[in-house]
Amino acid sequence: YGDANQKIDYVFKVVLIGDSAVGKSQILSRFARNEFSLDSKATIGVEFQTRTLVIQHKSVKAQIWDTAGQERRYRAVTSAYYRGAVGAMLVYDITRRQSFDHIPRWLEELRSHADKNIVIILIGNKSDLENQRAVPTEDAKEFAEKEGLFFLETSALEATNVENAFMTVLTEIFNIVN
Ligand code: GDP
Ligand code: MG
Repeated sequence: YGDANQKIDYVFKVVLIGDSAVGKSQILSRFARNEFSLDSKATIGVEFQTRTLVIQHKSVKAQIWDTAGQERRYRAVTSAYYRGAVGAMLVYDITRRQSFDHIPRWLEELRSHADKNIVIILIGNKSDLENQRAVPTEDAKEFAEKEGLFFLETSALEATNVENAFMTVLTEIFNIVN
């Protein structure tokens, strides 16, 4: 996880978006620090964390941006949030159908503010809560295929597929720029 004195070949900005409480901040915390908190505080403002990793012998600094969402009703903040982003993680909660039903709106916002070549992954988080599932995997998979998005179900709590989700996006970005 440390990146002291390391030569950086690439910096990729990736944004997290989706309804509040779907687990965006915990996905980021799992990826950046390998930490998880059940009583995570609501995100205030916009923040980012970084982690440097190696892809095909190059060091890539992933700069992951996280926000509460509400403040982005203000246009200027929305534009700043998406500016320079080369990847996006569109997150819903598999136990809350509404968070999945809102995905088309998030995708619309993304497509109207971000670069048109941005790499997008749809993420169904909280896969550890299988007994409370409200969104069938097939529904999400079908939506992702239709919209040309990558798709994975994750659990920030159990650390399932979080690494995989980030690597999917970062490797795809890497392949586009190389
Ligand atoms: P955000 O508003 O999208 O940033 O959501 P948070 O990351 O703050 O998470 C909201 C709540 O869901 C917190 O209580 C987290 O502990 C919980 N949470 C996040 N990810 C998971 C997960 O994978 N599984 C379970 N069971 N709870 C999660
Ligand atoms: Mg948050």
